[in-house]
Amino acid sequence: MVRLPFSAAGSQQRQILICLAALAALLLAGVLPLALLRLWQSSPLSDRTTPPRSLAPAPPAQAIWRSPLRRQCHAIDPALVQRLRHLQHTLPQHTRRLRIDPSNYGSRHPRDAYGQPVAHTPQLVVLHETVYGLNSAINTFTTHHPNDADQVSYHTLIGEKGQIVQALDPSHRAFGAGYSAFRGRWAVTNAAMAGSVNNFALHLSLETPLDGEDSDPHHSGYSSAQYDAMAVVLADWMRRFDIPADHITTHRHVDLGLERADPRSFNWQALQVRLAALGVLC
Ligand SMILES: [Zn+2]
Repeated sequence: MVRLPFSAAGSQQRQILICLAALAALLLAGVLPLALLRLWQSSPLSDRTTPPRSLAPAPPAQAIWRSPLRRQCHAIDPALVQRLRHLQHTLPQHTRRLRIDPSNYGSRHPRDAYGQPVAHTPQLVVLHETVYGLNSAINTFTTHHPNDADQVSYHTLIGEKGQIVQALDPSHRAFGAGYSAFRGRWAVTNAAMAGSVNNFALHLSLETPLDGEDSDPHHSGYSSAQYDAMAVVLADWMRRFDIPADHITTHRHVDLGLERADPRSFNWQALQVRLAALGVLC
């Protein structure tokens, strides 16, 4: 047996003690926070903070959407069919494409703020009106807006003369509606904010006539050229994204804040005959 010198034996003991202390510290570092977290989660105080939730809250109840559009396979005006077909064929040349400021739109999220899969392809069309002129809307969309409250966009604008302006490709999420839902569905993509239909919606806005630049409930309505152009854009979206006619709705309907009235003075019959002429209501 070899006797270690006193100093060597003391050094070995110290090393063992250091190892034991390090092991204890590691155990405490792993176990103690977990134990404290469990204790906190079971305490009533934890409800006052943001508890980890697995599901987004459901939207509040809203009025039932009954689409004014109905199935129509007959009684279609051949002259209207010819006019709209021509517009349909020249749609790419007639479409003005904008490059709007990135602060005014976002990406479609495949998962919500709670990590759950969420609808993120176009499944719904929301109709709006600009209230002010087409150029005013274009200026707003192309301006940088650092504050969330000022950020706004639609996918497509239809001018009073039937001009088609694509502000945003359908693959992007337009900021067209705030606090909103459709048939009990919304997407909560930011846990600090209320849900919205934007993640699965396409937004189309009609230029308001001059007599509508106010908050009156009615104005003189939209032009025949606007209904033509809108119908051609909608028929294209319905076919490309398999959107049924009863999923064409209004900002007024989806708005849960009950503040929006647009599009005012909208003529559903004018849209009905055009969509029927384009063969998407049969
Ligand atoms: Zn609107």
